This record gives sequence, structure tokens and C-alpha cells, in this order.
Amino acid sequence: MIDLHTHHERCGHATGSLRDYVTAALDKGVKVLGLSDHTPWFAEDEDHAKPRVAMPKSEFPAYIAEALALKEEFAHSIEILVSTEADFFSGRMDPYSRALSGYPLDYVIGSVHMFEGRDIFDTGRWESVRDDELGAVKSRYFRAVAECARSGLFHVLGHVDALKGNYPKLAGAPAPAAADEMLRAIRDAGAVMEINTSGGTKMCGGWYPDFDVLERAHHFGVPITFASDAHVPERVCDQFPEVAKVLEEIGFRGWTVFRRGVARTVPLS
Ligand SMILES: [Zn+2]
Ligand SMILES: [Zn+2]
Repeated sequence: MIDLHTHHERCGHATGSLRDYVTAALDKGVKVLGLSDHTPWFAEDEDHAKPRVAMPKSEFPAYIAEALALKEEFAHSIEILVSTEADFFSGRMDPYSRALSGYPLDYVIGSVHMFEGRDIFDTGRWESVRDDELGAVKSRYFRAVAECARSGLFHVLGHVDALKGNYPKLAGAPAPAAADEMLRAIRDAGAVMEINTSGGTKMCGGWYPDFDVLERAHHFGVPITFASDAHVPERVCDQFPEVAKVLEEIGFRGWTVFRRGVARTVPLS
């Protein structure tokens, strides 16, 4: 089992220390664990622009140092990858590239959390959206993820249809052309798409992305990786066997993992 997307207490909305996630992974027999807490909001002036969303900028070096120390300590029993999940803000990513360039990261996840000025999980954003507009909104979100991929800053694109998280109605909205555009953008950027099982912690349930997008991803040859997006240690590798089975049925054969930015493929299960 592998899991390339986990958080911990530094972000302010997850529980458990980095060591707790490593321990949970060891207990479950996980072979490759990515530590990928939210990046600080590097484009803001304040040190701690978003308490309860992300750690202060000044805390980031300690996060990386602790992750690297765990990687070494447990090198004989589990491969720990050191990473971070960055928010994508169109046109404002230079501070992120600068801030992240100095660290020996194995990979970086790029995720669109803020979309058209609001958090994607903010239920208030749907109050003025009509049902017949949902396909268009979803298409715009997919295009934002495509732009995130094209930025070339990321190895993994995070939860690519998570806009549905707290608005399940969006899941059924059609946006096939934009989905295909996004998938080609991910592939052409040399990046991979994660299958993220944290939908169960939101109103929509299920996984990001949904089955239709997974099938399209296989058609376009988009590589994939596994992401629990655990914010509690017990969720490490949550639903891994179920995901591997579905992906095998679709035709996928392996997961992509990264060492210092270099991709390699490991068997699906
Ligand atoms: Zn989080
Ligand atoms: Zn995320």
C-alpha cells in the first residue's frame, strides 16, 4: 500500500503529530507514505495569514526538518516521502516556487482550494447558483485545475473534482469537454492525478474524482497515485483495497510515486 497525501496538526485543522501518521502507516503495513501538509500561504505578507487552514511561514522549516528526521529514523521499515500540498492561486505562485525551491522535497501536490474567490467547501457559494448552471461551474473548476497543471510547479494534482465536496448535486453535472481538457493538461505536464478517498469526510461521499473521470483518465493515459488526504492518523490508506480493485477493473496497472522529483511506478496492489 502507498499513500501520498496526509496532513497533521501543524495546519490547525488536522489532529496527530507526524510521528502518529508514520505509526499508523506502519501498523497498516504501508510501504510508501507521503507527508504532505498544507503549505503556509506564502503569497501573503503575514507570517500566519490563515490560522486553522495552514501553518505559519516560520513553521515550515521545522515541518520539513521533522519529516526528514522521521524518513531517516524509519528508513528500514517504511519509505517516507517529504512533500507539501500547495494551494494554486493563478498568477501568484512565484512566492511559492521561491519558498519551496530550497527544500529537498520528493514531490509537491497542487490543489485548487480557492476558486472564484471562495473556499471550494464553503456551502454558501451555492446559494445563487441555478441547477442549469452547474455544468458550466464544474467546467470552470476543471479549467482551473488544468491551469494548475500547466503551471509546471506540481508533480501531483490534488482532488481534481473536490468542488462537489459539499454540494453533491454538482457530481451529476456534465462537463466532459472540460474534464478531458484537464486530463490532457495533467498528462502533458508530466504530472499525475491522485485518487483521493476523503470525499467520505464531506457531504458528497465517495472519491475524487468520480468514476467517469477515472475512466477518461485511463483513456488519455494519465498516471495516477493514491491519496487518503488523512487529517486523522486512522485514515491513512483509507479504502486503499477498494480503490485498487476499481482501478484494476478500469485497466490501470500501477501507482506513481516520487523520489526527489523522479517518478517511478509500483504495482497497483
Ligand atoms: Zn486540510
Ligand atoms: Zn486539499
